[in-house]
Amino acid sequence: MGVGGARYRVRMDRDPPVHVRSDDGAPTEELVDELRSLLAETAGFEPLAQRMALLSDPRRLQILFCIHAHPGVRSSDVARAIGALDSTTSHALALLRDAGWVRARRAGREVRYELADGPVHELLHDLGSAHLPGVHHPAEHAEEPPHGHR
Ligand SMILES: [Zn+2]
Repeated sequence: MGVGGARYRVRMDRDPPVHVRSDDGAPTEELVDELRSLLAETAGFEPLAQRMALLSDPRRLQILFCIHAHPGVRSSDVARAIGALDSTTSHALALLRDAGWVRARRAGREVRYELADGPVHELLHDLGSAHLPGVHHPAEHAEEPPHGHR
């Protein structure tokens, strides 16, 4: 057994399962039927897949990390931070906005970006995305809303 395999086994043993189902003894056919109806009740796998596909790009992930790190960041600053052209960054931001990952806010001549509502924020934290100093969630520091986000 290789070292990596051994480590994986240890991890598997230590980590508790995320879900536990109380009656694990259902016959296979019933289980398959249950899974089929669950999938049938869930609408829109195709749009969901298209939306998720946008995240399989390092540059777009970097953009999301920037917007999460500093809500309200300008497109041009994001472009400089990730070392991309303004036009490339604007195009990526438009895709992310159309897919509902971010939203744009016009402030005078500038467009500022923040995360859209929904699961993107938790997802970014799960992926290791951090805030810049002074940026925090309103629930943590309710008295300082300027750069807060949910
Ligand atoms: Zn956050």
